[in-house]
Order: sequence, then C-alpha cells, then structure tokens
Amino acid sequence: MLRSRVPATVPVQEPDPRFHETLSEALAAQVPKDDAICYCLKGDMDHEGHFATSFLVVTDKSVIGLGEGQESVRVALADIDSAKNVELFGGGRIMVKTAQGMMTLVCYSRDLIPEFAAGARIIEDLVNDREIILPTLDGPAYSKSGVPLPERGAQSPTDVPRMEIIKRLYEIVQPYRGRLILMTIAMLVTVIAQMSIPLITKFIVDEVLNEGDLALVNTTEATRSLGFLCSLIAGAYVLIGIGRVFGNSITAWLSGRVTADLRERLHNQMQRLTMNYHGKRESGELISRVMNDTAELKQFLVEGVPYLFINTLSFIAIGAILFWLNPFLALFVFLPVPLLTIGGGWFWKRLVPLFHKRGNRNSVMHSTLGESIRGIKSVKSLTQEERRHQQFTKDNEGFFTVVFRLEKTWIRFAEVMALVIGLGSVAVWYFGGRAILDPTSSFTFGDLIAFIGYMVMFYAPLQWFTAVINWMTHAFASAERILHILDQNPEQYEDPDAITLPKIEGSICFEDVRFSYDRGKEVIKGISVVIKPGEMIGLVGKSGAGKSTIINLCCRFYDVDSGTIKVDGHDLRTIKLTQWRENIGIVMQDPFLFNASILDNISYGRPKASFEDIVRAARAAEAHEFILGKEEGYDTLVGESGSNLSGGEKQRLAIARAILNDPPILILDEATSAVDSETEKAIQAAIANLVKGRTTLAIAHRLATLRNANRLLVIDDGQIIEMGTHEELMAKEDGHFAKLVRIQAENNRHKAYSMD
Ligand code: ADP
Repeated sequence: MLRSRVPATVPVQEPDPRFHETLSEALAAQVPKDDAICYCLKGDMDHEGHFATSFLVVTDKSVIGLGEGQESVRVALADIDSAKNVELFGGGRIMVKTAQGMMTLVCYSRDLIPEFAAGARIIEDLVNDREIILPTLDGPAYSKSGVPLPERGAQSPTDVPRMEIIKRLYEIVQPYRGRLILMTIAMLVTVIAQMSIPLITKFIVDEVLNEGDLALVNTTEATRSLGFLCSLIAGAYVLIGIGRVFGNSITAWLSGRVTADLRERLHNQMQRLTMNYHGKRESGELISRVMNDTAELKQFLVEGVPYLFINTLSFIAIGAILFWLNPFLALFVFLPVPLLTIGGGWFWKRLVPLFHKRGNRNSVMHSTLGESIRGIKSVKSLTQEERRHQQFTKDNEGFFTVVFRLEKTWIRFAEVMALVIGLGSVAVWYFGGRAILDPTSSFTFGDLIAFIGYMVMFYAPLQWFTAVINWMTHAFASAERILHILDQNPEQYEDPDAITLPKIEGSICFEDVRFSYDRGKEVIKGISVVIKPGEMIGLVGKSGAGKSTIINLCCRFYDVDSGTIKVDGHDLRTIKLTQWRENIGIVMQDPFLFNASILDNISYGRPKASFEDIVRAARAAEAHEFILGKEEGYDTLVGESGSNLSGGEKQRLAIARAILNDPPILILDEATSAVDSETEKAIQAAIANLVKGRTTLAIAHRLATLRNANRLLVIDDGQIIEMGTHEELMAKEDGHFAKLVRIQAENNRHKAYSMD
C-alpha cells in the first residue's frame, strides 16, 4: 500500500534524502523493532523551541516524534484522524489529531517548513490510504557546511568551489580557443620584443659607447655596431606595434563575442526557467544580471586571462635576467613580491563581500528604476512621486556608498603597493650606483641601465597582478551570479520520456490535487473534478481563494505537489510541455501585448498565419471594426504593453489571438474592470465565439459568463465547496454561490446609487 512515486518528468530520479534521514543508534532504539521505517525527516528544535536535533519518523504502523533529550511520542496510524503542519512564528510543528485530542510530534525552524509540510501530507495520505507523491522541493535549506542558505537551493558563498568556476568559465571561451591562442602568440611576441630592448641598450652602452674603450676601437666599426643595434631596437618596436594591433584586434572581437554569447545564453535560459523562479525575482534584478554581470565577466575572461599567462611568463623571465645581471640588486627588486602576495590576500578578503554588495545594490537600484518607469501611472495617480524619488535616492545612495568604499579600499591597496615599489627602486639606484663606483666590482653602467629598464618591466606585471586580483574578484562574483541562473533547472521542454498525444480531445481531470507556492502553505487543498471535452467551467470564489492557481496548474506553469491532473487520461506531467502549451489558449485579464503591430500581436503564436486567417480571427473576436477604425488598420503599433489601446480593445486582441491559435482548451481570466455596455456586448459575443467547441476554464465575474457555463465550481480556501449549474446553485437558498451573487447585486445597487 505504501507507494512512493516520483512523477515521470521530475528530473530527480533518486529518492530525496531529506525524507530519508538516518537516525543515530540511540534514537533508532526508540523505534519499535516491528516497525519498518518508511520516511524520516530531520528537524532542528525540541518541543520547547530550543535548537536541538529532532526527527519525524513515519513507519508502516505508526508515526513517531523523536529528539535528543526529549521523550518520544508515538501514535499508531490507525489512531490518527488527521495530521496538520502548524506554522508558528519562526518555525512550525507537526500535529496529529486522535480520539484523545491534538498531539505535537515534532518541532522545527522556519527554514524547514516545506519539508515538514510535505511530512504532514505524507501522514495524511497514509491515513487516508492515498498514494504518496513526494513533492520536488526547491533544494535544501542548509548548505553542506550546515549554514542556513539565504535562499533555498542557493549556494553558500563558502561552498563555491573556485576551481569549478574556472573550469566552467573555460568552457565558455573554449569554442574560440584558436583565436585565444593567436592572441596569446601576438602578445608573447610583443613581450619578447619589449624584453630585448634593455639588453640591446646594455650592449650599446657597454660595448659601443664605453668611454674607456673609445680610443681603442675603430670608430667606423663602432658606428656600424651602433647602427646595427639601433636597427634591432627599431625592429623590436615594429614587432611590438604589429603584435599590439593584431592582439588587441582579436581581443576586441573576443570580448564582444563572449559577451554576446553569454547574454544570449542567459536570455534563453530565462525564457525557459519556471514561473516559480520568475515569481521570486524582480525583473530589474534579472536585467542587471544579463547586462552588467556579463560585461564584468567578459572583461576578465578576455582581457585578464591571456595576460595572466603572459605576465606570469614575463615575470619569471625578467626575474631570471635581473638575477643574472646582479643577484644582490635583484633582491631589492623582489622585495615587494611577498608583501604583494600577503597584502593581495588580505585585500581580497575585504573586497569580495564588497563586490557582492555592489552587485546586489545595483540590482536593487535597477528594480526601483524599472518600477518607477513601468508604474508611472500609479505613482502619479497616487501622488507618490516624492516617495518614489526618495526610494530611488536611498537605493542610489546605497549604491554610491558601496562603490565608494570599494574604490577607497582599492586605492589604498594600489598606493601602498606603489610606495613599496618606489622605495625598492630607490634602493636599486643607491646600491647599483655604489657598485659602479666600486672599482673592484664588475657591474657596469650598461648593467645598471638594463637593470633599471627591466625593473620597470618587472613592476608592470607586478602591478598588473594586484589589478588582476580586483578583476578576478569582480569576475568570480559575476560568474557566480551568472552560473547560478544557468544552473537552475529549466522547465522540462525536452523531456525524452514525455509523450506526444496524436490529438488532444480536451478532457481534464483533477484528482486530489494539492499545491503550495512556497513555505509549505497549501493553496490548493485537494481538488478533484472531471471536466468533459467541450465543457465550459466557470470558477467563482472570493479573491485569494485559489482560482488563478488552478489555472496556473492547468497551464503547467507550476507542477502539483501531490495528486494528478490528467488530460485525456494521461498525467499532464508526462505530456510534452510544448504540445500541451500549444493546445491551450489563454486570455488573461490584463493581456500582455508586445510592442509591435496589431497584426503581429494577433499572430504571435502563429507567425506564419495568412492575413485572411488573421482577419477571420479578428472578426470572430469582434475586433475587426475597431482595428479598421485605426489610422493604420492592422499595421497600427500597439505601444509598449499595448499602451495605445483601451482595456476592452486589448482583451479582444487577446481573444483574436486565441481564436487564431484554435486550441482545444481555453483558459479565460475575465476582466473585472467595468467597460461600457457596448464593449461589454462585443466582448461577450467574442467570448461566445471563442468558447464554442472548446473545453473552457473561466474565472468568471460576469453574470453572462456564469450563465453560459455548463457548470460552476465555487472555490473557497483552495477547495471546491459547491459545484453545479447556475440554476442549481442559485436554487440553494443558503448556498455559498447564492450568497456571493446576492452580495454582488447589493454592491452593484450601491454603485448605481452613487453614480446617480
Ligand atoms: P484567486 O485567483 O482566487 O484570487 P490566487 O490563486 O491568485 O487566488 O491565490 C491563492 C493564494 O495563493 C493567495 O493566498 C495568494 O496570496 C497566493 N499566491 C498566489 N500567487 C502566488 C505566488 N506566485 N507565490 C506565492 N503565493 C501566491
């Protein structure tokens, strides 16, 4: 009887370990020998609300609440009437109802609500002899190191494996390996050419211009040597020029390419992410990730990584040359190196949180800005311009503060490094000068010139390394945010096990469907209904009752937690998502129109539709007349989100869109806003045309729709409390629906009076 089934399309194939925790030996001893443990959930509080390890154990015979230092509570399954997950401030408890009253089994903190809400459902299902379907939860609430996560399923910053990120970043640039190598070669040539110059200068000074030897050498030969060495230097400069032009051009190409690729991947991923993900994120935050984080990451990948390689090489090579020229002096040059490494690490620790903070504050600012612009009408009408502005100012100042702190830390670091480097060079001049003045030393003037030349070159990559720490920190922060989006599980579009039905007839069957958006708060609490093909169902109920949620489940914007929605006898989760979505038409209360022509908006779901079909759909939607009334007819641009059209017009365009798609199943979220009676009539006629022969689920507000519906489902608190035709429900004197209609009629009367 005890079956646990993971729905076919849910990606997690293995049992969720959170429902199968292991008991310590001492606690396991408290479970009767005859009981076979089926589920075991780990909590983190005792009955008094103190933090302590606790467990909810479900066996084939009983449920047991256990915990360290607390008495176990065991209730036989046969004695349980119902189980409940009671949410309290800061956490919750699992309670069961028996003939003796309510009993608390286990307590837990807020972070574990989803797990234990599922635990309560397991007990309920078991007691009622229902099939147990474990929900897929959004990832664990705690990180591997036991730290609570800021967001379910997120990565704790301490858990981010840096090597893993580097590997993933390499995958991003990997397709352009060839160009990356070419660019590196070009840069290598430049560096080698640069490195040759001080050495040639040394030869000029020591071998050609050396005063002591001037009288002895043949002047013509010296001039020839000078010419040759100078032309070598000229050649080196030419090479440097060519290398730079070539290398920088490839860099420019690569940087543009990688950013474009990243943006494209992120956009694609965002389109495919679940509504659950989108519901929790602000659009401004996502836009900021696509635009800013990609730019940050690109800079590091393309301008940082190749130099990392080249600068390391030249750093080692120059170090060796300096050592060869004069080991003693070289020590002064090397002086800042350990300081740099230690200082770099110290600053790194301080910079990382600041970079994260800057990214977050930037997103917050984007969100506020976006809302200010999109919600301008509401802001103006509520005369909240000042408050809005204050909000933006606050966010803007917050951003400024972090940026400034970041820059300040950075400037200090860079300047301290510059000071150490400067002092190092003073020492080189002093000791180098003394070595030349010392007649016993073989250190020549040419050596010193070359030494100084190399020293400058040595410090350049050294300073670059300090800069790269800055970059790397930026880049890792951005990479973490980007990879976080790319790593989300998208909707199962390409599920290989999903089936494609030859034709969808349109029967929809809800079987004890339960669902919660988050935190285990059940919004839909066991709905069962069979909808026949072609039937029109009106959903009625108070606001917040769960009507839109039923529709969301039907469109599979979310998956049910338990129970099933069956379409033509097949579990919705086993049907190919694209096929399903193609077969449902949705007309939302406030339909979204794209900033394009009316024609493009009607044919958005079928871009290849012929003009005749589009006009036919518009006629059926009673939209043709008003479209022709526009100056540019079907080519009229609707403005951003359809701002150039009235609410009634937008609705009819959405209806035309649905008619053109010709789906067997229709979802209708009726507009509540009042329109003039003529428009109302037109919309009703359009809807009547639309629903003909289609299975329709309509959130109904208008009496006309309610009358047209074959059946009405009255929803309250996530359950169906009444079902029947309009007449049947009206006939029930004290029925819920009859009462709703009476209240509505009363309201309308008041409205009519107040309008007089
Ligand atoms: P109705 O359409 O009947 O007005 P809804 O289905 O929109 O009701 O909402 C039912 C409940 O679910 C409400 O309590 C609402 O606050 C909650 N809810 C709706 N959408 C979400 C969401 N995306 N995330 C969390 N809770 C939600």
